[in-house]
Amino acid sequence: MRLFSATIATETNTFSPLPTSIAAFKESVFLRPGEHPTDAPRMCTAPLFVARQRAAKDGFTLIEGSCFAASPAGTVNRADYEFMRDEVLGQLRAALPLEGVLFGLHGAMVAHGYDDVEGDILERARAIVGPKCVIGVEHDPHCHMTLKRMRNSDIMICYKEFPHTDVADRAEDLLDLVLRTLRGEIRPVMSLFDCRQIGSYPTTLPLMRGFVDRMKALEGKDGILSVSAVHCFPYADVAELTSRILVIADGDKAKADALAKKLGEEFVSMRGRTAPQFETVADGVKSAMAFSGAPVVIADPADNAGGGAPSDNSTVLRQLIAMQATNAALGPLWDPIAVRLCFDAGVGARFPLRFGGKIGPASGSPVDALVEVTALKRGCWQSFGPTQVPLGDCAAIRIGGIDVVLITNRTQALGLELFSNLGIDPLARKILVVKSTNHFMAAFGPIAKKVIYVDSDGPLPRDYRKLAYTKLQRPIWPLDAETRPGLIF
Ligand SMILES: [Zn+2]
Repeated sequence: MRLFSATIATETNTFSPLPTSIAAFKESVFLRPGEHPTDAPRMCTAPLFVARQRAAKDGFTLIEGSCFAASPAGTVNRADYEFMRDEVLGQLRAALPLEGVLFGLHGAMVAHGYDDVEGDILERARAIVGPKCVIGVEHDPHCHMTLKRMRNSDIMICYKEFPHTDVADRAEDLLDLVLRTLRGEIRPVMSLFDCRQIGSYPTTLPLMRGFVDRMKALEGKDGILSVSAVHCFPYADVAELTSRILVIADGDKAKADALAKKLGEEFVSMRGRTAPQFETVADGVKSAMAFSGAPVVIADPADNAGGGAPSDNSTVLRQLIAMQATNAALGPLWDPIAVRLCFDAGVGARFPLRFGGKIGPASGSPVDALVEVTALKRGCWQSFGPTQVPLGDCAAIRIGGIDVVLITNRTQALGLELFSNLGIDPLARKILVVKSTNHFMAAFGPIAKKVIYVDSDGPLPRDYRKLAYTKLQRPIWPLDAETRPGLIF
């Protein structure tokens, strides 16, 4: 039995002004066959990693393809996408004959000329391997689950948890289902219900927690093989952006349809109640300053680098300055040029610095201030669970009672070291502002006396009605009040 595995992955925010070229993949995951590290999966490479570990025991030969993955940003360079795709498809052709294929695809990649990158990959892969080969795909739930992908794959699975703590577990599920299909034990049939809604669904909140626990309990009995909630990725102007429910049953299409419909209707009934409430920037800063406990964490999800934002929006900082906040710290603000200027000035220097607000209109305008350089550090990092996330060279600057951490490697706020490695004790601060949507909660949640989400004018607004969609299929909630949810596959 011969299986092939490869990865092409990024999450594209088509509203982000930062283009994604092959350089971004080379900075993150750019592994040719046999080069994948043995310690742990990389971004979206769990299907290959898990298959490699299990090949001998489960009696199949794994042919490893390339793995390419980049951090979220704007639309991908067309020639660079085609280069990576054609490399993987060439490997696939060379690996024939194959019984199975395992793709680790994020599922929300958009390249110039390709609104549905994963659909393009799967359609071309199907043409190469033929109708009998079992194609299995692992997606991030923040994906666009298009009909083209459904038509060109046999088994499609999304992570269930957000934050995504179950990437490897779902890759195990995918491999199980592909192998059982190849052994003739099961015959997967998929159904897809379109909820016609855009939403955010952290599984740390009670309503979604309960939904995911019920999804899990349904699997492995009564002929149900797998259930995925497709959250959607709101920050892309593509036709099939929408929340969907995907059910895989064993041979019984009517059964898959019925469950997809039942869970889909339940998902529709949860509209507007699955995400944390948010405030305006002015109200959020005001209530943080008025709160008696400390630290108060203010999250700025609209400028989350993890969703493709530049992370240089200045709006929350301006509000802190205007309201003369004291004992406050904000990070990370991505501005490699300002970091360079701070290194040139040196620790202890007080000098006029222009920083932030550079990359696009959704960055706001730059801040001009007399700043004091309080710390400089080369090769900084922060932790995210067991992983060290590099921040590059960093500078801490002080404006009145506010400290700002400037970084060189664009990334979201994840670990307390973002502040503490530059001499800012997060526990001793009254207000901590973090640029992140939900991942910050792992480290900052436990120390926060209160968490306030604000909706700034960054490129990932919480209110989806602010986004200038042109290709999105309508009607869809919350842009339209009347929608027509239903089974579509
Ligand atoms: Zn995601």
